Amino acid sequence: MAQPTQASDAGDGAAANTDAHPQPHAGSQDNCNSKLLLPELDCLHLAFKWSQVSPTVSSSSQDQQSQHLPKSVIPTHRRVTEQLTRNWAPFKVLRQCYAGTRFEEQRQLHLPQKHKATVADSTLRVEMNGLEEQADNTKALELFWKPLSWLGTIRPTSANNAFDPAIWETFVSTTLGLEVPILASLPLLHNSPLAKCSCKKFCMDFHCDHTSTCTAHSGATKEHNWMVSVLWLLFPTAGHWVRTQHDVTANAGQRRGDVEVRSYLRDQAGSRSLVFDLSIAHDRFGSSNHVQQNGSLSHPEDLDCPMRVAVQRKTITYKS
Ligand SMILES: [Zn+2]
Repeated sequence: MAQPTQASDAGDGAAANTDAHPQPHAGSQDNCNSKLLLPELDCLHLAFKWSQVSPTVSSSSQDQQSQHLPKSVIPTHRRVTEQLTRNWAPFKVLRQCYAGTRFEEQRQLHLPQKHKATVADSTLRVEMNGLEEQADNTKALELFWKPLSWLGTIRPTSANNAFDPAIWETFVSTTLGLEVPILASLPLLHNSPLAKCSCKKFCMDFHCDHTSTCTAHSGATKEHNWMVSVLWLLFPTAGHWVRTQHDVTANAGQRRGDVEVRSYLRDQAGSRSLVFDLSIAHDRFGSSNHVQQNGSLSHPEDLDCPMRVAVQRKTITYKS
C-alpha cells in the first residue's frame, strides 16, 4: 500500500476537502484515470466516519468537520486494485514485458463483453424486446458475456461430467497461451515437434493452432460432438424440452442443426422452437501455406471477426 499512498499528493487532497461538494465515496469513484486519494493508515477510522456523513449536511458544517477529518475517503477495493494494476511500477513493467505476446493476445480474447440485447440480428431479439417492455424503466437491456466466468461457478455433479485431466490441462494451457504439455512432450526436431498431423501437410505446433484448424484432422468431428453432448444437457436443467441429432427438425433444405429447444418461446404468435448448430472457430492461423503466419491472430484488429465469419458461413449453408 506504500506506493499508492505516496501517489496521492496533499495538494489534491486539500482541493477535495474545500470543494462545496464533498468527495463522494464508493460507487462514484469509477473513473480510474483520476488520481487516487488514500487516507493515511492512522486516519482510516476518521475516513470511515467521513464516509458516513450525510451528503445533505451543509457545506459550512462540512468545513467545520473537515478540520478534524483526513483529506480523502476510503476508495472501493475495486478502485484500489485498478489503480495498482494501472500505475504501480512492477505492474507497468509486467505489462510492458507481455505487450504483443501471446499471453496478452489471449487475455484480450477473453475480456468481458457487453452487448445491446435487442439488436436487429440477435437470435433472442423477440424475447429481449418482450423483457424490455416488461421492465419498469426504459433502459435498453444489455447482455454481459464473461468468457471465463463459468470457471468460478461450475462443479462436476458426477464422475462422468468431471473434466478429463488431459482435456483440462489443454484447456488451461491454450486459454492462457502456454504450450500444451502433451504437444511439448513430443519428440523435437529444431525446437519444433517432429510429429506431422494426420493431414501430412503440417507439423504439429506447441500451441495447438494447427490441430484447431486442420480440416483433415480426425479429432475435429469428435471435438464438435463432445461439445454438443455436453451443451444439450444444460437445457433440460433449465426446464426445456430438447431434441438432438436426427430428432432435430430439419429446415427446408433438409439440414439439421445440433440441438432443438422445443417451444422455447410462447406468445400470441404461438410457440416457437430454437435450433442451434455449433461451430468452433479458431482465432489464429494454423494451416496457412504462408507458414510464418501460423500461430498469429487471423484478425488482430477485429478479434470477433473469426466468429462472425463462422456465423456467416453457417447461415449461407442453411440458406442454400
Ligand atoms: Zn493437419
